[in-house]
Amino acid sequence: QKKRPWRNKLRKEKAKEAAKKEKEEMGEMDVIGEGDDGDKKKKKKKKKKRANAVLDEIIRDGKAAREKEEGEEEMEGVEEGAVGDTKLEDAKEKIRSGIFRYINEQLYTVKSADAVELFKNEPDSFWAYHEGFAQQTKKWPNHPLRLIIQWLLGKDSGKVVFDLGCGEAKIAEAVGNRHDVRSFDLVAVNERVTACDMAHLPEKDGVADIVVFCLSLMGTNLLDFIKEARRVLKTGGILKIAEVTSRFVNPKVFVEAVCKLGFAVHERKAVTDYFIIMQFTKIEKVENKRPYGLVLKPCLYKKR
Ligand code: SAH
Repeated sequence: QKKRPWRNKLRKEKAKEAAKKEKEEMGEMDVIGEGDDGDKKKKKKKKKKRANAVLDEIIRDGKAAREKEEGEEEMEGVEEGAVGDTKLEDAKEKIRSGIFRYINEQLYTVKSADAVELFKNEPDSFWAYHEGFAQQTKKWPNHPLRLIIQWLLGKDSGKVVFDLGCGEAKIAEAVGNRHDVRSFDLVAVNERVTACDMAHLPEKDGVADIVVFCLSLMGTNLLDFIKEARRVLKTGGILKIAEVTSRFVNPKVFVEAVCKLGFAVHERKAVTDYFIIMQFTKIEKVENKRPYGLVLKPCLYKKR
């Protein structure tokens, strides 16, 4: 040993390196506590908690993405690639998509008041949902939101536009300097969004020129949403609905039902095979307060 004093130093360095590598590979293990190296029992326990840690990280990922967007500093250790374990990444992706599909299904099958409760109790789950939705839309060749934004750009400026179920409030982002866009969603993912249930908007009667529901008619209390849209609209104001084609039992019957609530249909057109955009104008006369046919099927995503 004395003859080769560098040897020990080298060994120490190697050991240090190996430990560092292991730590990196186990990235999210940090979440569930450190300082028990070599203790096999505890390591086993750690493994058990791994699924929880992964979930925590997914939620942190969502938050980190939001904070990044807001120009804040990125959270430590949650950047892509920090984990460096493809199996773990795959597992995370599966859990992520599972959470998305679960919450998505909830939103389509409960009344909006229950959706409000869901996010009140589990505020972080909204990020998982939100991220999942963004992932889905990335695959779409034609997001109806783009067409709605184009349409709004063609309008005279200064319109009061309500974006109900706005998600990231992309409409306000795109045309907010041209129109007075007010964006509402169950949870506010950025400063453009006002958090509320769109069945009860914090707005006065007859203030809006345009109300948009872009893929947001999710709760089973559809009637409440349409009525609320009509309440905030001026007479002669425009209601735009973009929805997934497969959600309609019969688009014609749906249009008739909306009309009975005090609207005139202006246009109904298929964007692609996937989406339909409808445009209505608010009229004075309400023919039926609970019309037949005002239903939409839930839009459930397939397991990937
Ligand atoms: N309009 C956006 C987002 C569509 S995703 C776009 O086209 O990209 C559907 C959105 O509707 C989700 O963000 C969901 O939270 C919202 N939403 C569903 N029910 C709602 C309700 N009752 N009140 C407010 N927002 C609602």
